[in-house]
Amino acid sequence: MPAAAPGSLRLIQSLAEPGTDLLRTREEAAAWLRTAGLLPAEAALSNSEHAALLRLREAVRDVLAAHADGREDPEAAARLTKALAEGRLVVTVDPASTVRLASAARASYPSVVAAVAVAIAESAAAGTWLRLKSCPAPGCGRPFYDDCGLPACPVHVAG
Ligand SMILES: [Zn+2]
Repeated sequence: MPAAAPGSLRLIQSLAEPGTDLLRTREEAAAWLRTAGLLPAEAALSNSEHAALLRLREAVRDVLAAHADGREDPEAAARLTKALAEGRLVVTVDPASTVRLASAARASYPSVVAAVAVAIAESAAAGTWLRLKSCPAPGCGRPFYDDCGLPACPVHVAG
């Protein structure tokens, strides 16, 4: 098992997880999103939404790879920024002056993107975003949470 990321970063870690490709078909992706609590039971994904979800995941993976290498990847960062824009994040203030990130989108897919965007924003605010990395071992790419200078996922850190 990869080291578990804290809090909302777990969502990003599971989204980026390789291996069993839960996002291979529209139906599998919708089922995965429902299990993650991101998609209402009655909602489905269109082909273009499924394609957008795959682009989002790819952008997340590329950014996590850049985290692992300690390098900047402007192209991946731009793709992630563009993919997250669909979540239409806004800041809400309630009567008790509690401030939250929320989505101005009403449709189900933009709400999924918004949940991912909020998770990234919260982890960045908590200082944990840069510690979520993808394993650089050949053929691995598993996302792991680096809380103590680990160079790779727990499977590859010894070898
Ligand atoms: Zn690995």
